Formats: sequence, C-alpha cells, structure tokens
Amino acid sequence: MEYNVPIKRVLISQEQIQKRAAELGEQISKDYAGKAPVIVGILRGSILFFADLVRNIKIDCSFDFMSLSSYNGGTSSSGKVRLNLDLREDIKGKDVIIVEDIVDTGYTLEYIRKYVNDMHPKSLVECTLLDKKARRVVEIEPTYSGFVIEDLFVVGYGLDYDQKYRNLPYIGVVVKE
Ligand code: IMP
Repeated sequence: MEYNVPIKRVLISQEQIQKRAAELGEQISKDYAGKAPVIVGILRGSILFFADLVRNIKIDCSFDFMSLSSYNGGTSSSGKVRLNLDLREDIKGKDVIIVEDIVDTGYTLEYIRKYVNDMHPKSLVECTLLDKKARRVVEIEPTYSGFVIEDLFVVGYGLDYDQKYRNLPYIGVVVKE
C-alpha cells in the first residue's frame, strides 16, 4: 500500500462510497424537488462525503458548515459535545439537511438536532456516510444513511484518528496498538 498507515483492511472502497453518494443524492433530489435546502456539512469529518453527495443533488441548494467536537482524541467517546464553529446563514424557515461522517453513540447528532431546531428551520433531516448502530447510547436515527458498519474504529474519507488519515480515499479499519 502506498500510504504508510496502520490500516488492517479496507472496509469500504472509494467506488462503493461514490456509488452510494450518487444514490443518496438522487433520493434527496427527489425528496426535495421544488425546494431549496441548506446542506450543512459537519466539519471536519464530512467534507469528502459532502463533496460527493452535493455533486449528486440536482436541485437548488445552498451550503453551510458547523464544526463540533465530541472526542478527546483517540478512539473513545467522551459524551460531551462542543460547538467550535457556528452556521453563517439564518436557517429560520428553511429546509435543512445535516451531513455527517459517522453516527456512533448519537451524542453529536442529538446535540445538532437540538441546536439547529432552536433556530426554527422549516424541516431538519440528517444524512450520514456511516452508522455504527451497535454503539448507540442515545436513541436516535439519521434520516439518510450510507452504510451501517460494525463496532470498528475506522479512518479515511474524512474520518480521523488523532487528526490523521482523513485524506485516505477509502474507509479503513485501524490496527490498534
Ligand atoms: P458520536 O457523538 O459518538 O455519535 O460520535 C460522532 C463523532 O465521533 C463523529 O462525527 C466522528 O468524529 C467520531 N467518530 C465516531 N466513530 C468514529 C470512528 O470509527 N472513526 C473516526 N471517528 C469516529
């Protein structure tokens, strides 16, 4: 492998992700026909998936971004979510689609829902690339989901381990030290 990273195996290839992003984009285009949703990417993990997804959304839309952190670094969830960067647009009365990299315990998604709903959007849904259902602590389901994965720590395609490996063009399973 050309990358010097501790990847045990490729879980989801770039081709698989792009195919799924096209399907989700098509679905969202149908569901939002005649509307102009605000697509909100959650930084930093969602950006690669966000770019694939929006290229397949064939209706009027605008972009916005938020940054949140829920991890202290490493591979364990703290349960605490912090807002680092807020939306720039006023989303009151608008249809909002949140784009996430992964839903794990659900704390982050729960926080985003509460936070964004307080701004009174017309509607709010989420689209996540990955869903680690088995690890859910909060009872919450993303509206659109790319792939349900097992309880594995994964990196690549935007996802990091201590801020590294976001640039890998696939989702890989990390070899834990
Ligand atoms: P949650 O709040 O526990 O649902 O976690 C959501 C956030 O945790 C994601 O946006 C990721 O930043 C991070 N995360 C959860 N699982 C993984 C993983 O397997 N690899 C990398 N980051 C992860």
